[in-house]
Amino acid sequence: MSAKDFRFLDLPRQPPRTVPVAIRVLGYGEIAGDFMPPEASGQAERCLDCGNPYCEWECPVHNYIPNWLQLVQENRLFEAATLMHATNPLPEICGRVCPQDRLCEGACTLEQGDFGAVTIGSIERWVVDEAFRQGWRPDLSGVRETGRRVAVVGAGPAGLACADRLRRAGIAVDVFDSQREIGGLLTFGIPPFKLDKQVVRTRRAVLEGMGVNFRLGVEIGRDLAFEQLLEDYDAVFLGTGAYRFVDGGLPGRQLDGVYDALPFLIANVDRLLDDAPVPPMLDLRGKHVVVLGGGDTGMDCNRTSIRLGAASVTCVYRRDEASMPGSAREVNYSKEEGVNFLFNRQPLELLAGEDGRVRAVRVVRTEQADGGRGALSHVEGSETELRADVVIQAFGFRPSPPSWSTTHGVELDQGGRMRVGQGGALPFQTAHPKVFAGGDNVRGADLVVRAVHDGREAAASIARLLAGAEAPVGCAA
Ligand SMILES: Cc1cc2nc3c(=O)[nH]c(=O)nc-3n(C[C@H](O)[C@H](O)[C@H](O)COP(=O)(O)OP(=O)(O)OC[C@H]3O[C@@H](n4cnc5c(N)ncnc54)[C@H](O)[C@@H]3O)c2cc1C
Ligand code: SF4
Repeated sequence: MSAKDFRFLDLPRQPPRTVPVAIRVLGYGEIAGDFMPPEASGQAERCLDCGNPYCEWECPVHNYIPNWLQLVQENRLFEAATLMHATNPLPEICGRVCPQDRLCEGACTLEQGDFGAVTIGSIERWVVDEAFRQGWRPDLSGVRETGRRVAVVGAGPAGLACADRLRRAGIAVDVFDSQREIGGLLTFGIPPFKLDKQVVRTRRAVLEGMGVNFRLGVEIGRDLAFEQLLEDYDAVFLGTGAYRFVDGGLPGRQLDGVYDALPFLIANVDRLLDDAPVPPMLDLRGKHVVVLGGGDTGMDCNRTSIRLGAASVTCVYRRDEASMPGSAREVNYSKEEGVNFLFNRQPLELLAGEDGRVRAVRVVRTEQADGGRGALSHVEGSETELRADVVIQAFGFRPSPPSWSTTHGVELDQGGRMRVGQGGALPFQTAHPKVFAGGDNVRGADLVVRAVHDGREAAASIARLLAGAEAPVGCAA
């Protein structure tokens, strides 16, 4: 072991500084600042380079983390960016939005030893941002065009990852999306204070430079028939996401002032993209907002409501804080920005005022049977009313498979997820041999990095299918 192997003893974990709360809540800019080059390489030096890198295994795309941390220490920026792209088509995005505390950084040996994990996500983000700034681009000069064509439906992370890998295998790609911009939930769901939309635009330019052709504002099944894709292309990848809102069935949910999370977040992104004024629905100035749900979407609604000027934001979650499904980092940001949390409270009903708008949420205290994620019971006599001028329901999403997929032989499981890789099929191949799928439409609502994994692996299967059974899939970095 060299002296460097003990760098973590004298250099503490230090992520990039965040914008002070008083400033960040005034706008929608990303709250994480940038590393200065010596800071990034100093933080990279904290890596122990342990023989069995648990971080790599917990990372869903199995990034070569210790190897690129070594390149960062040696100031070999472009080589680090190239190595990051070998496993992850969207590293600067995952570096921003992955819940690292539950994935790579949660598994870091230093974290286990209470020294604080290496700042893996921030370094990943910094390397690619900086490499792009300095002109680095993926090198496809060695790619041989195969003359094959694939249609990708959905320009979310699954579709983008698939398109990237197909181009590296010499396959022409048209990506269709009903939205006016690429990104799926990267653009229209995740708020800009977590992921600046310019980052997605830069990635679009990079993909276009690789030869990916985007056909935006085209909804398959409405503007263009799915049959047409099956006729015109050698294979089709479906990365259509999961958009069916989970309805909590609360009495009063139809009242004015009650919104579902995604339309609320999309309306805000839409008006920010157009630089348009705040529409009445989003004018929360002086209003008391109650957000129902403790996942990442709930945290995004909390923090958006704060920025829209709410007088108070209360987040209601039916279990305790330790059982929250989202990232601890996002919960902490909500708290820092002034959100009140009410744990162990179950909403029962939304109550109307005289004007027919929502005026309160009736909640009851809950107890968890086994102190964890076990059955919940209501505490008798503990019902109270929370004042609410606006209620945002963030109970999650279920798959929303397009009807044309099933009429063309794509099979679903009982939960509506597309079945892939069954009965001898290739990984991510559906029951229709020409159709592949991945991301939220296969897993149910999940994470960006898992959608990226699926798109990458589906592209490998498509390339294999098109090249003939056992041909290796070439992947230029
Ligand atoms: C509010 C919110 C915040 C989140 N925050 C995080 C986070 O911080 N970190 C994280 O890792 N994950 C987060 N997620 C989850 C993450 O965004 C998703 O898991 C991921 O985007 C799924 O990728 P996808 O490509 O499968 O689908 P999507 O991103 O949903 O993209 C699907 C695309 O398909 C298009 N499409 C669908 N049907 C058609 C059709 N018929 N024709 C043409 N186009 C079509 C849609 O327009 C869309 O652009 C969040 C989700 C939400 C809702
Ligand atoms: S992709 Fe996500 S989980 Fe993997 S190393 Fe990067 S930040 Fe960590």
